[in-house]
Amino acid sequence: MTRLLLIGPPGAGKGTQASLLADYFGIPAISTGDIFRENVKNETPLGVEAKGFMDRGEYVPDSLTNALVKDRISQPDAQKGFLLDGYPRTIDQVNQLDGFLDEMGKKLDVVVQLTADSEELVRRLAKRAQEQGRSDDTPEVIRHRQDVYEEQTAPLIDVYVSRSLVAKIDGLGEINDVTGRIIEALAARGLTPDA
Ligand code: AMP
Repeated sequence: MTRLLLIGPPGAGKGTQASLLADYFGIPAISTGDIFRENVKNETPLGVEAKGFMDRGEYVPDSLTNALVKDRISQPDAQKGFLLDGYPRTIDQVNQLDGFLDEMGKKLDVVVQLTADSEELVRRLAKRAQEQGRSDDTPEVIRHRQDVYEEQTAPLIDVYVSRSLVAKIDGLGEINDVTGRIIEALAARGLTPDA
């Protein structure tokens, strides 16, 4: 059973790596960003509420985000493990996730920190803006999302470092090379698909 978190700045490649790793481990990749985007697309009450925050590059309020994750990690397919992509992003979310896992009698195995220098991040996000047309990939909103990440999310890494959970991985280079680095770091901690 494998429970992983993926943390890194916007553009670090979390989404791409999350789906490759989830396939490798046979666990669901749970991306709060994808879930919010799906709700926005379908104009659900959650989507209607989340859209404004997302378009401005701000975080959706913790109360909404935490409830969504609690529900999702309680689903049957997540009982064999999961990979959370883009959650937690605030200290409140860390505390809530700790509580959910305690209630379920489970714990996190590893927090994968993906790094990339800021020039590369901007380059990748500009490319993604062209390819995917995400409404929050405009230059101003990208800058704001980077600031919000530095203020609210980067400090979480220290929290998980103090629990000795962090594997820091260089996110630069070919997609498959990055995946290989992550798999190697996880294997070094005893995490393999059949473990
Ligand atoms: P992402 O696809 O992970 O970059 O997420 C896109 C947007 O969804 C973010 O900029 C936030 O507005 C919202 N979002 C995703 N995950 C979270 C989270 N854990 N907490 C708050 N907002 C989130």
